[in-house]
Amino acid sequence: MAVQFQDSFDRKFYYLRLSITDVCNFRCTYCLPDGYRPSQKNSSFLSLDELRRVVAAFADCGTSKVRITGGEPSLRKDFTDIISMIAEQDGIKKVAMTTNGYRLAKNAQEWRDAGLTNINVSIDSLDPRMFHQITGENKFHQVMKGLDAAFDAGFEQVKVNAVLLKDLNSGELPAFLRWIKDKPIQLRFIELMQTGDMNSLFERHHQSGISIRNHLIANGWIMKVREQSDGPAEVYCHPDYVGEIGLIMPYKKDFCHSCNRLRVSAVGKLHMCLFGDYGVELRDLLQDNTQEPELIARIQGQLANKKQSHFLDQGHTGMTPHLASIGG
Ligand code: SAM
Ligand code: SF4
Repeated sequence: MAVQFQDSFDRKFYYLRLSITDVCNFRCTYCLPDGYRPSQKNSSFLSLDELRRVVAAFADCGTSKVRITGGEPSLRKDFTDIISMIAEQDGIKKVAMTTNGYRLAKNAQEWRDAGLTNINVSIDSLDPRMFHQITGENKFHQVMKGLDAAFDAGFEQVKVNAVLLKDLNSGELPAFLRWIKDKPIQLRFIELMQTGDMNSLFERHHQSGISIRNHLIANGWIMKVREQSDGPAEVYCHPDYVGEIGLIMPYKKDFCHSCNRLRVSAVGKLHMCLFGDYGVELRDLLQDNTQEPELIARIQGQLANKKQSHFLDQGHTGMTPHLASIGG
């Protein structure tokens, strides 16, 4: 193995978030309220071969988990081939995806058979009308069928991502908790993050993760000892519940201390942080297998520049217009 990716704050990076497309078919109010619009002119997404070279280099430097994301990753026609390709790389133990769930009912088994090990499905509301209002799509029942299909396909624990928004779905916290009482779901509440394209939505709808944490603690939920794979999430369990809660609170002090991930965008740019100011071109070094040493050296070189934390609390959103652009 080449040297493990590590930064100047002794953080080790064994987790790659790999975006494979910017395109999405949903219009989530906080992400792509007007739907997908091509942003990167004349730039195609990384091909299967280019993606293979990215993953191989990361795997050679200690990466054991890859999350495929986007946009909506399942919109790629070669999505199943991408899963198989990643699963076949030496050293990769977990192949995860984050999805809006619209193709899950149809494809969960196929993806599982191809080597997918973990799924996060985004479900912002358990009320079909509110789901429609937030995502722009009337697909609540289809996504819920997808969740069932994921369990049927053999995924033991499925994670569900939800963004609670003040004056929209925030009143659903008790309903969400009841929902996981007898289900092996880790429900991850992601605190709304401000991004470049967001105007007044953040002020109107931001709900702090701390208020959710206070509700959990007051109702007998207990914080679990952190596992390395939790990254910055706090995980809570309750003796009366099969499901668990994960809290992702990017505005919390020290959130970035446990950062364990690097990102590569769908057009082959390395991002040190979701809210960084620039992406580093990798594509010129993804054109044939002999370039791997140079590719690794470029990534290693950039790690020295990784900042200790983001500056979101000061309203600095970096170059990210919305999370679909580099993979949330
Ligand atoms: N389309 C897929 C999906 O929605 O699951 C994958 C990409 S999406 C950008 C990944 C996750 O980021 C979703 O769970 C979504 O809810 C979350 N997300 C998007 N924009 C966000 C924001 N501004 N703040 C917090 N979470 C956000
Ligand atoms: Fe699409 Fe996911 Fe963004 Fe919603 S959060 S618009 S599903 S990329």
